[in-house]
Amino acid sequence: MADCIFCDIIRGKLPCKKVYEDEEAIAFYDITPQAPVHFLVIPKQHIPNIMEADQSILGSLLFKAQRLASELGCAEKGARFVINCKAHGGQTVDHLHVHVLGGRALGWPPG
Ligand code: 5GP
Ligand code: ZN
Repeated sequence: MADCIFCDIIRGKLPCKKVYEDEEAIAFYDITPQAPVHFLVIPKQHIPNIMEADQSILGSLLFKAQRLASELGCAEKGARFVINCKAHGGQTVDHLHVHVLGGRALGWPPG
């Protein structure tokens, strides 16, 4: 989709620090990390947010997030898996993405 920075990353028009890629998804480190481990898992298809995603893509994205978190050393102490949605969820990039944050203890509740 035009004017979507994550679609630009998928197309290679914008650089990223890649964690993983397959036919349907890509994972890369967040440009403004909020934890020692902070990466995003996104579908290659432009899906604006979780409200427009189907069961298959959600299951697949979350499973990949879980596997990658484990590979990056977050299995023992845990991590946070976050999907922000639209204005009330604090979503700033309108291309579905799962945040994975690990490597430190995180506070709760969010502000
Ligand atoms: P949201 O607020 O929509 O849940 O999260 C969007 C995330 O994308 C933010 O954490 C932000 O730092 C990250 N981000 C925005 N632009 C870029 C970029 O060009 N490259 C990378 N790697 N991350 C980005
Ligand atoms: Zn997009």
